[in-house]
Amino acid sequence: MILSLSSRILRTVDSKCLTKMAWNFGYKGARSVMLFKKRMKEGTYFPPFLYLSILNSCNLRCQGCWVDVEAPRNAIDLDTLNRTINNAKAHGNSFFGILGGEPFMHPELLDLIAQHPDAYFQIFTNGQLITEKTAQALRKLGNATPLVSIEGTSTVSDERRGNKDVLNRTLRGLQHCLDAKLLTGVATSLCRTNIDDLLSESWLDKLIDLGVHYTWYHTYRPVGPKISVDLALTPEQIQQARRFIVNMRAEKPIAIVDAYYDHAGDALCPMSTGISHHVGPKGDIEPCPIIQFATENIKDSRGIYETFTNSAFLKDFRETSAKHTRGCVVLERPDIVKQLVLKHGAYDTTIRQTAMAELESMTPRPSQWVKEESIPEKHWMYKIAKRFFYNDFGVYHSLEK
Ligand code: SF4
Repeated sequence: MILSLSSRILRTVDSKCLTKMAWNFGYKGARSVMLFKKRMKEGTYFPPFLYLSILNSCNLRCQGCWVDVEAPRNAIDLDTLNRTINNAKAHGNSFFGILGGEPFMHPELLDLIAQHPDAYFQIFTNGQLITEKTAQALRKLGNATPLVSIEGTSTVSDERRGNKDVLNRTLRGLQHCLDAKLLTGVATSLCRTNIDDLLSESWLDKLIDLGVHYTWYHTYRPVGPKISVDLALTPEQIQQARRFIVNMRAEKPIAIVDAYYDHAGDALCPMSTGISHHVGPKGDIEPCPIIQFATENIKDSRGIYETFTNSAFLKDFRETSAKHTRGCVVLERPDIVKQLVLKHGAYDTTIRQTAMAELESMTPRPSQWVKEESIPEKHWMYKIAKRFFYNDFGVYHSLEK
């Protein structure tokens, strides 16, 4: 698998894009995780992976989206983004996840990427606004990878994303990325209406034929203003997805990303481990994208490093959720999320101002932690990568496996 995947990447990705990925993400990304681990030992938490939602606006209306896509635009201005990224870089970070809304609706996105040639950006996008010109501009810069979300077949895509001809328009943007020889990924939020089509060997083969280099399987989170619990996976489907991913990683010449398991197959929460936190479209510092409450903002004059490392709210969220679950505290224990929000007097970061009512309407449900069975990685590359750079970093010491 490794040889065919690497030769495919070497043949189809622009050399500047490859160099930037290898150095800014590969080497410097690994270094930032080592720094994170060192700081943890000293009791200081600064996430090596920062996810920034740079605006709320989007051209689609996906089922279960927790972002205020219909509200008037809130976008983080370039100066604030630069100040934040420069401060994070000054403390060893080099990787930044860029989300929205739809990031390509932000007029300064390419300027942002251009102004940080020493960093690496993963852009979470629906792909529909990626023109040939935009893709070629990203190629020239070399330090960004588009992660294009596909949520189902043509019919399911229209239904899931609340628009017409969604899949074709997304595939057009995806093709522009591949034609521009960008390192390109496809993400799917697995749910009941797309698991049979997209959690399949034939879908992975289609992605490989298209020239896609990696794929990321998220699991649908039933949260937000219009919660669709019927879309959420059952525990059996969660295990089915885990097993499929582990098997396909050892077979298919396509890289497969997940954020919820370590090398031994034990579940984890990226927020609880502290490896990542989220910044909302108004600059609010949130434990993770679906916990839409905060006590701090990136506009704080102290700078993002001081703000993060001194946040009692983030600290309590990490430690309390790690005491209760290896899974998703929002899904499994919305009551604990509410308690922490009230305890710290955290404010609702949404424009719609209904986050607490949404939380109170939630009933506990299973998440990625299926206690009965851990499915360990099969392929040595993923075992090593997770063993050293992506695991629970020992935060679940008070919780039996
Ligand atoms: S709280 Fe849930 S959604 Fe947030 S990072 Fe953890 S597992 Fe993911």
